[in-house]
Amino acid sequence: MIGVPHFRMYIDGQWVDTEDRYELTNPANEELVATAAKGTVEHTDQAVAAALAAHRRGEWRNANPEERAATMTRIVEILNERMDELVELHVAENGVTIRQAMAFHVGYSISHLQYFADLARTYAFESSGPMLGYPTMAAGITRREPIGVVAGIVPWNFPLLLAVWKLGPALAAGNCVVIKPDEKTPATLLELARAAHDAGLPPGVLNIVTGEGEEVGKRLSAHPDVRKVAFTGSTAVGRLIAQQAAGNIKKVTLELGGKGPNIILPDADLDTAVDGALFAFCLYQGQACESGTRLLLPDSLHDDFVGRMIERAKAIKVGDPADFDTDMGPIISAEQKARIESYLELAPKEGATIAFQGEVPEGPGHWVPVTILTDVTNDMRIAQEEIFGPVLCVLRYSDVQEAIDIANDSEYGLSAGVWSEDIDAAMEVARQIDSGTVWINDWHMVNALYPFGGFKQSGVGRELGPHALDEYTEEKFVHVDLSRSLE
Ligand code: NAD
Repeated sequence: MIGVPHFRMYIDGQWVDTEDRYELTNPANEELVATAAKGTVEHTDQAVAAALAAHRRGEWRNANPEERAATMTRIVEILNERMDELVELHVAENGVTIRQAMAFHVGYSISHLQYFADLARTYAFESSGPMLGYPTMAAGITRREPIGVVAGIVPWNFPLLLAVWKLGPALAAGNCVVIKPDEKTPATLLELARAAHDAGLPPGVLNIVTGEGEEVGKRLSAHPDVRKVAFTGSTAVGRLIAQQAAGNIKKVTLELGGKGPNIILPDADLDTAVDGALFAFCLYQGQACESGTRLLLPDSLHDDFVGRMIERAKAIKVGDPADFDTDMGPIISAEQKARIESYLELAPKEGATIAFQGEVPEGPGHWVPVTILTDVTNDMRIAQEEIFGPVLCVLRYSDVQEAIDIANDSEYGLSAGVWSEDIDAAMEVARQIDSGTVWINDWHMVNALYPFGGFKQSGVGRELGPHALDEYTEEKFVHVDLSRSLE
């Protein structure tokens, strides 16, 4: 294994190693990319103890928000200096194409961390006001204080970005943090820890423990000294996290799965909508929770739209994600590939038609072709369950109300889209869809200035936006009787 980098955990400002190691492989060619330490429950306890000690020492919690913002900005500057290496590592680690890594996976990670640093400067940590019906002079003060030790558990699809969505607001608010990345993708987050170390973040304020969900993740979500857990991943594990967190009534935010309905209204601009519908389910090979995976077409447009989409899909270049010309890369693992393939086998049995299937490279790597399924009805498992691959279910509707009903007939409610030249009509549909995000004439445009999260079983709470720090603070009311000071 000479020449392959090794990543250690980051606990209490120290790099911690284990004899047992993960082998991180490139999903495009199955070659070894790096090795990583494999942490245990004991390492988790050490990290939580370090975070609690740092919280009690108070150097981060009591720092002026401006000082916290300055340290976080230094981390951003270092990440920007190391952008090229970070992108290369990200592409090798999780198979995202280099263009998407630069724009979204790494680009957003850095700009969103800067957003949270800036939010520390402007967030109303303290405000005061008058009292209602109090007989003497008094003032009410509202303080937003850090919660204490905050845990983040993140998946493999956006390993850096989804960690930033947790550690960013947590640190801006003055908390101490322990993050567990997915077993397959710890490297870029450990690079962020190195940047934080180099930027002078005090020991114990940020800790990264690599390890199994069943061990490290479970311990973190159950740990009595962890006061909040923020999770992104499957709904099944989200449910477990909520149960595990109930022991000490932790605050919980969950960002779970989705089955995004994408409604094309009859007056949509077809060229734009066809491209948009492909973009909606193909970004990062469809392994994004907010993908548009149920395309709802009016009967009048169905055949024309599907035909145009197939013509465009033929041009999608699938291959080496490190190549700038590549549009789509591999699936993260053999396990996820098998899971997607099981749905592709199920589709015809449920009555769907495979209208299009693209090409994939020969040889090693975990490849699944772009697949468009027609004759899908919303009661099929393929229309209700998250497939998490480049697979689109096309459904028909006869009038707009039926489209809205189909869109809402799901246990998920994370993202949705409406395509129309009539913004009033599109807004009316947007109002009626049970979804945390609705894009009109676009998709995947998550924006740090606006909240992200789900209705129904897509989650609890919101990440991003100006209120992101609310989820990482406790609100305290202080009553001050002023009558004595006025005597
Ligand atoms: P997952 O939910 O199993 O894993 C997410 C994270 O949770 C990982 O860090 C994992 O180690 C950890 N974890 C697993 N079991 C745990 C437990 N008992 N307690 C605490 N932490 C635990 O997701 P996955 O296995 O990577 O993917 C499975 C499916 O989940 C996918 O096919 C997809 O449908 C969905 N998924 C959704 C998202 C999303 O962004 N919403 C991301 C990844 C996967």
